[in-house]
Amino acid sequence: MFTLRMSVRSLVEFVYQSGDIDHRFLSVERAQEGSRIHRLLQRTSPDPYEAEVYFKHQQIYHDICFEIEGRADGIIKKNGRIIIDEIKTVHVPLSEIEIDYRDVHWAQAMCYAYFYLLEQNELNSILVQLTYFQVDEETIKQFQKELTRADLTAFYEKLLHDYSKWGELQKEHEERRNESIQKLVFPFPSYRDGQRRLAVAVYKTILDKDVLFVQAPTGIGKTMSTLFPSIKAIGEAKVERVFYLTAKSITRSVAWQALALMKQKQVYLHSITLTAKDKMCFLKERNCDPEICPYAKGYYDRVKEVMYQVLIQHDMIGEDILKEYGRSYQVCPFELSLDLSLYCDVIVCDYNYVFDPQVFLKRYFMEPGGKHMFLIDEAHNLVDRARSMFSASLSKSSFKKVRKQLPTSQKKLRQALQKVMKGMDTLIEADEARSFLIVKEPFLGLNKLLQQFQKICEPVLAENAKSAYEEDLRQLYFDSNAYLRISELYDEHYVMTINRTSSDITVTQFCIDPSLLVKGTLKKGTAACLFSATMTPLPYFLSLLGGDEDTKRLMLYSPFPKENLSVFIHDGISTRYRQRASSIQPIVKLIHTATALRCGNYIVYAPSYQYLHQIAQAFQNAYPEVTVRVQHSDMSDEERVSFLQAFDEEADQTMIGFCVLGGMYGEGIDLRGDALIGTIIIGVGLPQINEEQNIFRDYFEEQNQMGYEYAYVFPGMNKVLQAAGRVIRTETDRGFILLIDDRYTTAQYRQLLPPHWDHYTIIHQEQDLKAALDSFWNK
Ligand code: SF4
Repeated sequence: MFTLRMSVRSLVEFVYQSGDIDHRFLSVERAQEGSRIHRLLQRTSPDPYEAEVYFKHQQIYHDICFEIEGRADGIIKKNGRIIIDEIKTVHVPLSEIEIDYRDVHWAQAMCYAYFYLLEQNELNSILVQLTYFQVDEETIKQFQKELTRADLTAFYEKLLHDYSKWGELQKEHEERRNESIQKLVFPFPSYRDGQRRLAVAVYKTILDKDVLFVQAPTGIGKTMSTLFPSIKAIGEAKVERVFYLTAKSITRSVAWQALALMKQKQVYLHSITLTAKDKMCFLKERNCDPEICPYAKGYYDRVKEVMYQVLIQHDMIGEDILKEYGRSYQVCPFELSLDLSLYCDVIVCDYNYVFDPQVFLKRYFMEPGGKHMFLIDEAHNLVDRARSMFSASLSKSSFKKVRKQLPTSQKKLRQALQKVMKGMDTLIEADEARSFLIVKEPFLGLNKLLQQFQKICEPVLAENAKSAYEEDLRQLYFDSNAYLRISELYDEHYVMTINRTSSDITVTQFCIDPSLLVKGTLKKGTAACLFSATMTPLPYFLSLLGGDEDTKRLMLYSPFPKENLSVFIHDGISTRYRQRASSIQPIVKLIHTATALRCGNYIVYAPSYQYLHQIAQAFQNAYPEVTVRVQHSDMSDEERVSFLQAFDEEADQTMIGFCVLGGMYGEGIDLRGDALIGTIIIGVGLPQINEEQNIFRDYFEEQNQMGYEYAYVFPGMNKVLQAAGRVIRTETDRGFILLIDDRYTTAQYRQLLPPHWDHYTIIHQEQDLKAALDSFWNK
């Protein structure tokens, strides 16, 4: 029999939720305050109070076994009576709360009362109590109802009845899905080299409830090799849902194509892509206030019908479908995507929906132990992304800006803002000689000031929704909220930085080492596979992404014929900052030599825009007959697309793209066949020396005496390897990689070159390159 597992909360919220979307308040410390208040009320109850009582109840309704679980806030024994207590913390004045304030609150308490009664045969009725705690005034208001066994039985039957349409939908889908998955065979005629090993390793990782790190070069078919065993595991109930996580939207489309291929093979899955809120929003300027956005107003009154229609008519739910239904039913397409995701087997989305403490999907990750499989694509990106997601900054100027806009009548709020600004001033004195300070201890005093600001801000925002300052104030409220959220994670893996300029002070909680936080997040699922073409050196990625010496790993080699790729290292040119001016002319000549022998498309990567533009300009001056395209830092969406479209496979003249290393064309682009036949990489990709990189350097120097490598060499080489990986995309592609820098032949860099480049040729003279390329192209 089909078993539907749900929490009490999800069930009652789904059935009872109605009205508008309202995300105007997110106060995290209020949420924590809520838990603290729960504990306080539970502790200080004058009567015997059993707190956090766990219930799990199974009931069959129309051929579905509903397994519903949850924790009642408390069971009180008073004067021989049993009271089921449900505590709700609220911000509205208690005078606005009456017995029928929220049906969903009663429903939650009534589920626990029903489950309790089923365990106590002698009882025929029970008291159900709602305790509302007003957090600002710290006052409580309670309501009680006496309910009989018959009342609660009828209530629960109705609850299951109201959900049964959805239960049926899930049952039918699951049966059809599992049957189709059982028949699923690997959707390609054969496995490529390494592909089967990867698929087996992923499947075993799921069975072992483990974490796997994989380095698999281009061509292995990582997307299908990781998705296929994960889908198989869904069919065997080893996992309930797969999160395919990416850093860039371009990789999302590759996963989507793999899912489409499985669909062609008659696999019935519900898959969804989550797209950023700003991209999904129908308004010119996003404002989710239900008084402003018609797609937020009454959202919950309409959304269930839309969801039902989408789920019965579509199995691959992408942006276009969400927008189409969003418009026709007047519901926010972004919220719709989140609500629909609960009914999907595969969720393709950005890393931040799982890792970012500001935006992670609470519906899945509030509690550990969900039956999720995390497939983390291009996981080398997770190091920087995790650092940024787990860091937070605030600037004095944003407080100043809001304070200026506030009318004098907002005295308390103005004072709170002033206090925060003063608090920031004291962190770095005006006469302090340095303008950038690094401090290990967190600024607890500033956190307190921010909490006070939040507390005062909330009612002001609620009452002044249409004021001129509302937008900036709300943004500041959210930013301080984000900052406070990060302050809860602050530990020895963080430092505080204070950056003072002539006009501003910026305070940052800077996450240096996100490993524990990443590891903690991965524990919210059953298993995880972090994979990339470039995880070299693996110990570096393991140490920063929560792995250790016992972590499972798999290193695969390129499945493509080695002879299709020529690798040249020119170690006669230094591209260090001081030698850049003198390096330009020799580099220009080398580029010409490397690209003149064969008509086709090439990319030259340089480490900074400035250097790139100097080289590109010098090249154009010297060889005006060659078509070049140069990447700029401020390209529009159309320019970005057209830049890539210029890499035509049928090119009848040579075209050279000049791109910045580590930029948008440095990874994730797939130029197959003759669309790209050579890349020239100038320099070793070192990040610019700055205060932040030096924080990493100093931290890791202390940790493992590899500060310079962790801060500069390894991240730099990762960009080089990614850029180099653009050339050979299929087994019939042919092309070359030319690395220009005298450091490449040092032991430190040689050991970072991938094994499938072990046939590289060291070039000292331009003529040597010409001869070697001539022989390569004429083979
Ligand atoms: S449509 Fe835009 S403004 Fe409206 S609720 Fe959705 S995201 Fe917010």
